[in-house]
Amino acid sequence: MQIQTATLGYPRIGKNREVKKALEAFWSGKLEAELLLQTVREVEESNWKTQLETGIDFIGIGDTTLYDHVLDWTFRFGLIPKRFQQVSGLERYFTMARGKEGIPALEMTKWFDTNYHYLVPEIAEETLSVDFSDFLERVSRAQKILGRAAIPIVIGPCTLLRLSKLEINIQQGVSKLVPLYISLLTELKNLGVEEVQMHEPALVLSDANSCQEHFQTVYQSLSLVGISLNLVTYFDDLGEAYPWVIDLPVAAISLDLTRGRNLELIKTYGFPPSKRLGVGVIDARNIWQIRPNKLIPMLQEIVESLHGISLHIQPSASLQFVPYDANREKQLPENLRNVLSFAEQKIKEVVFLARTIIGENTKKEQECIASTWNQFEQFNPANQLVQKRMKTLKINDFQRSLSYGLRIDSQIPLPPFPTTTIGSFPQTSEVRQLRVRYKRDELTQEEYQAAIDVQIADCIKRQEELGLDVLVHGEFERTDMVEFFGQQLSGFAFTENGWVQSYGSRYVRPPIIYGDVVRNTPMTLREFKVAQSLTEKPVKGMLTGPVTILNWSYPRTDISRSEQAFQIALTLRDEVADLEAVGAKVIQVDEPALREGLPLKIDRWNEYLSWAVDAFRLATAVAQPQTQIHTHMCYCEFGDIIKDIERLDADVISIENSRSNNQTLREITEGGYSHQVGNGVYDIHSPVVPTTEQILQQLRTGVANLPVKQIWVNPDCGLKTRRWEEVMPSMKNMVDAAKVLRQEVNVTPS
Ligand code: GLN
Ligand code: ZN
Repeated sequence: MQIQTATLGYPRIGKNREVKKALEAFWSGKLEAELLLQTVREVEESNWKTQLETGIDFIGIGDTTLYDHVLDWTFRFGLIPKRFQQVSGLERYFTMARGKEGIPALEMTKWFDTNYHYLVPEIAEETLSVDFSDFLERVSRAQKILGRAAIPIVIGPCTLLRLSKLEINIQQGVSKLVPLYISLLTELKNLGVEEVQMHEPALVLSDANSCQEHFQTVYQSLSLVGISLNLVTYFDDLGEAYPWVIDLPVAAISLDLTRGRNLELIKTYGFPPSKRLGVGVIDARNIWQIRPNKLIPMLQEIVESLHGISLHIQPSASLQFVPYDANREKQLPENLRNVLSFAEQKIKEVVFLARTIIGENTKKEQECIASTWNQFEQFNPANQLVQKRMKTLKINDFQRSLSYGLRIDSQIPLPPFPTTTIGSFPQTSEVRQLRVRYKRDELTQEEYQAAIDVQIADCIKRQEELGLDVLVHGEFERTDMVEFFGQQLSGFAFTENGWVQSYGSRYVRPPIIYGDVVRNTPMTLREFKVAQSLTEKPVKGMLTGPVTILNWSYPRTDISRSEQAFQIALTLRDEVADLEAVGAKVIQVDEPALREGLPLKIDRWNEYLSWAVDAFRLATAVAQPQTQIHTHMCYCEFGDIIKDIERLDADVISIENSRSNNQTLREITEGGYSHQVGNGVYDIHSPVVPTTEQILQQLRTGVANLPVKQIWVNPDCGLKTRRWEEVMPSMKNMVDAAKVLRQEVNVTPS
């Protein structure tokens, strides 16, 4: 039996966001390409050294990227769609990532159930030739620094195919890719590489079983190259695929033991003694220190039940989902900081666990960890009021007092095809400057608020001039829709340097939920009141929903996610009641992340949707029947969850639709959706101003599909990323389109 340590990838943005800074400088023409590449090399070499010095035996390398690791492989394999073939080199790479005049970028979508986004490869019949030179150069450099510890990371062929848009059938896809992978593995072998990590997270998806044959033929062919393969899976368990996956012709298999039921599967089906098992026991998706009293017995159990087997102790996935170093967070209370574990802490935990399992005496370290947890628990006791409220929740708390059909007529009267927006208006540099100066204490609270109020007044005036029906205050006081609420709630912590990559050069700092969530004062009343005082038209109260706040944060692990969602929902419930009390007739609770929180395995969807929808209901059901509750979701395919969307019981839902050719609308109609829908009339992600005619066309599809009284008119998402010069004409055309439509379908405005 041999126990060693490994990693499956590391944060790659640079401790001080070096890659982002270099990228942006490069894009604006201020940095030479060579210096950009130099920055990436420095970041990766520093990553390698950290892992080597920490004592990791096998270090995953080659995952550093200029934009996205999936794009990197698409690029290297020559899977270049026709439209990008007119440009070359780095320019081609970035055009695939970001598009340019006349050449739309590859589509971007979420990487499994993480908040990282990758670029979707498009695989056609014709491809260009492969070019592995950048990767091979990296591997040789890693070999010089790390020696045999350097283990190249490659995205597996089956996952690449599974995530791609295919212009050919899957069989042709397999035939195309296998020779490309063979040539890659051969080149790596020539460099003296002994083992490669083949990342195949597609194996945890619900349909993995239907890919059995492909996996078997592909890995049969790859095994002939004569280089050891470690088949790496993560984000969930192998489910029904487990028995055949462990028999694939590979040297090692890596499993995620932090999610799903892989441990059970190992116990039920065993594990082949001829293979090495990678046990992903350190959670690569969350930022909490390990609890040795749980992990050590679990590892010992595995070791005993699989006696004689070789083990790699490792993080559950790439550490790209956590920031670099918790010790830098000097602003956080020490008791909290001590129980946080970012990448640097996690690799130390890997080494610590391995030493413990080998039998080294780590008692002192174990005690030390236990004591930091004790201190944290003392510093962060349960909140009795929240606990009590949670225990006394009743069915009625989740239910509006009147059902939809009975309450709508008492809600605010509006013309047919009412017009509104999703909440935010342009965040100009002036607005951003305001927040920065306030944060730096260059503005007093009064000065800052007064300046925000000027923005609100301007925004209300513009909306009145445009003739919109339901107005918004514009969200100028918010940097980010989750951060804004988290910062006002107890139980949330924010980091200074805790950046993780969302996509390309976009990084986020997810909040950390560490304790019971409490609202100490109202969070949105002031701005709502200012806005409403300036107009006769209704202004929407604007809140971020409980599920979105939870899904875009690092959650606690000592209580369930549903419990955390309910706690957040209770704070929003109080906010809804307060908004109502100061006169809000319309309140919107955004849930853009509801759908993306769906578990990877379809058979767990119901469990998630059940509590997620309940959390939204808990937040909103307190509203009087006369108060109109809105919600907003983006990037939604609704077909499969339409009943759950309906169960939210929001009076109005606004959705992103304009990019999916009314797909969502069709799904809604077919599902027999009975509440009101604002089916985004144009794509705000593009700077193009839609014409009245284009908007009308979009709306007419709505009229053909839904009763008039169900239809709202709005853009498909918030307008904060746009400029006023785009927003004003777009909104004017949208309002005009609603007017034309009112004439056309012959309904008289009230
Ligand atoms: N109300 C938010 C806004 O308009 C919604 C953002 C979102 O959907 N992500 O910006
Ligand atoms: Zn949106």
